[in-house]
Amino acid sequence: MSIDIKSLEDKYTIISNIKNGEEVFWKNPDYLTTTDLPFSMDDVLDAEQRLARFAPYIEEVFPETKQNNGKIESQIFSLDHFKNARFSHLKGRLLLKGDHALPISGSIKARGGIYEVLKFAEETAMKETDFTINSDYRLLATEQYQSIFSKYRIAVGSTGNLGLSIGIMSAKLGFKVTVHMSQDAKTWKKDLLRSKGVEVVEHVQDYGYAVKEGRKAAADDPYCHFVDDEASKDLFLGYAVSALRLKHQLKDLNIHVDKAHPLYVYLPCGVGGGPGGVAFGLKLIYGDHVHPIFIEPTEAPCMTLGMISQLHDQISVQDIGLSGKTIADGLAVSRPSKLVGNIMTSLLFGSCTVNDHQLYLYLKTLKDHENIFIEPSATSGFQGLKYIHDLNYDSENATHLVWSTGGNMVPENEQKIYYQEAVDIEKRGYED
Ligand SMILES: *Cc1c(COP(=O)(O)O)cnc(C)c1O
Repeated sequence: MSIDIKSLEDKYTIISNIKNGEEVFWKNPDYLTTTDLPFSMDDVLDAEQRLARFAPYIEEVFPETKQNNGKIESQIFSLDHFKNARFSHLKGRLLLKGDHALPISGSIKARGGIYEVLKFAEETAMKETDFTINSDYRLLATEQYQSIFSKYRIAVGSTGNLGLSIGIMSAKLGFKVTVHMSQDAKTWKKDLLRSKGVEVVEHVQDYGYAVKEGRKAAADDPYCHFVDDEASKDLFLGYAVSALRLKHQLKDLNIHVDKAHPLYVYLPCGVGGGPGGVAFGLKLIYGDHVHPIFIEPTEAPCMTLGMISQLHDQISVQDIGLSGKTIADGLAVSRPSKLVGNIMTSLLFGSCTVNDHQLYLYLKTLKDHENIFIEPSATSGFQGLKYIHDLNYDSENATHLVWSTGGNMVPENEQKIYYQEAVDIEKRGYED
């Protein structure tokens, strides 16, 4: 299908700015309208209960989850020093949701990705044996189940982090697992997966191609479950569970969310499943008092482009001449999820874009002032603060929650390279 870009630009002038690689903020004109949503609170609760059933198993096979009783969850950090250093004019409170430090795979993918693998394991166990939801889930670590799972394969296409989470979890359960990686996937991620017995197939093309190849390879095999990042309901619901957890965490911190105390949540967006799932869950809980904002790289703003044009997955960033290339792992995505764009029509406050230089600078400021390292993609949420303040949505009663989506698995030498790049950018002088 050929798209008439010129008439899109005439209709939506912001598309011209996006096309030029500029940083933009787009306020969603359909925000808070009513639309039909394909999932409900019951679906999210079902996912939460499934994760609770698996907790004893997770605790046993991943001892690092012991302190949280097998719950894969992250902390909230208060960013007072970072705020003083970089956003001192911000009136509301600034918090970081630390998914960069989620156990098992060190990124937000430890939510959706692991959830989908566990759900498939549960279904398989029930199909092959007399396993029920009342069974002791620690049984799944025994040789009997390992041997059953070894007949099955799990496949996924990924730029890296989803591959890590699916690969590590699947291999632990005993599944055969294949990760189709795009050209931009980091060598250390491929090496790490191979060290765990994961088959890594490298493609010279981008993320979308890796997903397509994975889907194709899985289609002919009845013993293969394909994790479809572009359309998976299970991934989405796995991410959405985070909202139920966040509700308790904010309550424990005595942070109110209501009409007088709005909550702004800044979510780095790739294909959209992660941020979409989180935003959906938060909307179920906080309704009109929570405002989700997506952030994408200037070279890969696929969700923003799909939502503005309402063409969703029918338009790619290459269609408007962008490269889709960015340092931001997980965000180098050219076409948004088929599932998420429609769901977000009424739920997304707005979205904005950020360039790679800026990501490095956020990374360095966070390291310098809070001693927290997160990967470049995970820093993108900070970009939203700028616009929300400048557009006067900020207030003393507002809480700004930046979702930090990855970082803990990045090897130390790679962390140093990122940091050094930031130092160099600062030296050269970067105008924002
Ligand atoms: C995958 C990922 C995201 C975004 O998730 P999507 O579901 O692709 O939108 C954000 N940050 C990091 C670090 C990721 O790996």
